[in-house]
Amino acid sequence: MNTKRVVIEDVKHPRDEELLEAAEILRAGGLVAFPTETVYGLGANALNEEAAKKIYAAKGRPSDNPLIAHISGENELRPLVSEIPEAGRKLMEAFWPGPLTIIFPKSEAVPYGTTGGLDTVAVRMPSDPVANRLIALAGVPVAAPSANTSGRPSPTTADHVWEDMNGKIEMILDGGPVGIGVESTIVDVTGEVPMLLRPGAITMEMLEELLGRVEMDPAITGPMSPDMHPKAPGMKYRHYAPKADMTLVEGETGAMAREICRLAGESLAAGKRTGIVCTEETKHLYPEELQREARFFSMGERSREETIAHNLYAVLREFDEVDVEQIFCEAFPDTELGQAIMNRLIKAAGHKIVKV
Ligand code: AMP
Ligand code: MG
Repeated sequence: MNTKRVVIEDVKHPRDEELLEAAEILRAGGLVAFPTETVYGLGANALNEEAAKKIYAAKGRPSDNPLIAHISGENELRPLVSEIPEAGRKLMEAFWPGPLTIIFPKSEAVPYGTTGGLDTVAVRMPSDPVANRLIALAGVPVAAPSANTSGRPSPTTADHVWEDMNGKIEMILDGGPVGIGVESTIVDVTGEVPMLLRPGAITMEMLEELLGRVEMDPAITGPMSPDMHPKAPGMKYRHYAPKADMTLVEGETGAMAREICRLAGESLAAGKRTGIVCTEETKHLYPEELQREARFFSMGERSREETIAHNLYAVLREFDEVDVEQIFCEAFPDTELGQAIMNRLIKAAGHKIVKV
């Protein structure tokens, strides 16, 4: 298949003419990748089971991993759900449109092919102007997981999407780099107490301030044992992973950098292509010689964690490009946006964490 790439001129104010062909492809059951404020999504008509199947095929995604349905306005929610619990209503008022996905009991209109066989449906209303207008023009809810090959880091630029999806989908809308850089927060409101299933830019602290008590799916932090069933089926896969073996080093910044220097030194001495991930604040703690010998990346500023989230997946993909075999990466505090960052890094590292 020939994948068409359409560059959006002004991503804050996309013109309908730039989006109409993409909308038509979606309506006709085809696949279009598009930017959202979190990561690039791979869209298909959420009410068309055959279209949803194409998403699983293009991504190589396990079919028990449900898709998030994206809408452009609140009136599009009602047909997808059988009930809107009070907590869901509050969340919508506070955070939609935005980087929050809410799990509702599904209506009959939503096929099991979209929900991975579940009786619930995940819904999000993106704030990104390209995503929002595209969905409105398509006139159907758009199922859109991240537009990467399953298991690879999520795409945060159209080039990332191109690497994974060229030849497999009808169109890529190029809206430049995304803003946030990590996937949406997911909250399940179908139970007694709302439950966080995946951390994101809407933080646990923000959810608790709005809703009071919020539970957290143990799959977010702990390594998965075979008998564990995370409520978001996607959380059980290794996910977000670079090709290299990755180890996270956790501790006070000085000790953390010293340990990474030691481990990276050993790895280089063993003849391995070695990568180091640090931050602007800790860069100076690494000797210049090590910075030259290893693939050395700063992920952003610790004092502005949004910069870390923004660069996270691009840095992991960069390591794939240069064929690094072993990565050592600094850890972050597990609060606010750091919780989303650590969740992705822990998965990328396959739970290999060294504490100093
Ligand atoms: P992605 O689309 O790649 O961001 O992944 C979507 C995430 O949402 C996966 O982790 C899914 O398991 C989760 N998800 C989607 N629908 C549901 C649902 N009905 N219940 C629980 N988790 C869901
Ligand atoms: Mg994904």
